[in-house]
Amino acid sequence: MSRVIVCGSLNMDVVVQSARRPAAGETLLGAEVAFLPGGKGLNQAVASARLGAPTSLIGAVGDDSFGKALRSFLADNNVDTLGLGVVAGQASGLALIQVAEGDNAITVASGANHHFSAAMVHATPQRDEVWMAQFETPLAATDATMRQARQAQARTVLNLAPFLAPPPELLQSIDIAVLNEIELSQAVGVALDSASAESAVIEACQMLRAQGPRAVVATLGPRGVVVVTSDGAVQIPGYRVPVVDTTGAGDCFVGALAARLADGATPFEAARYGNAAAACSVQRLGAAPSMPTAEEVAARLA
Ligand code: ADP
Repeated sequence: MSRVIVCGSLNMDVVVQSARRPAAGETLLGAEVAFLPGGKGLNQAVASARLGAPTSLIGAVGDDSFGKALRSFLADNNVDTLGLGVVAGQASGLALIQVAEGDNAITVASGANHHFSAAMVHATPQRDEVWMAQFETPLAATDATMRQARQAQARTVLNLAPFLAPPPELLQSIDIAVLNEIELSQAVGVALDSASAESAVIEACQMLRAQGPRAVVATLGPRGVVVVTSDGAVQIPGYRVPVVDTTGAGDCFVGALAARLADGATPFEAARYGNAAAACSVQRLGAAPSMPTAEEVAARLA
């Protein structure tokens, strides 16, 4: 099996739960707190490693206790952290998630993630490795790293989330672009939502594919995924499962897809596997902690 190298973000999610939201200027007692490792890069790396692919995460943490906690969480999940840089004088990425009255409000302090640069990437891409990135770390670093990976004939996966307009050269160096419906509609400037016809989603994927990626995979929540390659378009239906928490479903999908690609699967086979893995993850609470094992995914596919 080839290696999966994820270039991306790590955050400590600080989840504070209270009965109600405090008013401006008010101090509210009686809340509960949980510290959960997160960030798209970390979530995707954990998903890939849990499914058996040798996986590394390249990114940046601060020189603080959260940085150490994130590193040890990754090591406990068999993710190689040799490529994690420490940015002196910066805090590790932090997401403050306030949960109250059945809703949440999230504030992200990117911290060290924002200081990640191509100069911090010391690994040299190897042929057939799977290199992947998202947009929670600076675009210049993603652009340079993906282009270098493509030149080395590694396979490149870009998750266009959270969406920002990618430079044309970046899209041209991508093997598989993965994005949800909202990001797809932002990428091609066509209105799409959960009621959009399959044909409209396929057409939007084809528009994005015309800009460079060899394959485009759109994730459609409970409706599954659409895969568009040079062979045409295929819709893979979602699984009907009891949903507990969809946080991190997209990250699970991308991590699982990368793990299968590293094992020699085609984009279609890898998307089918990702769809099953993500259906497992939505049945559990949390993002990284909800990533399934290879046995669970195999049972879902059987
Ligand atoms: P994101 O989390 O990035 O918004 P999606 O909501 O499209 O991405 O979810 C990613 C994938 O997770 C879907 O393509 C599907 O495979 C799976 N998934 C998400 N929600 C559900 C659900 N309610 N039931 C079954 N599978 C789901």
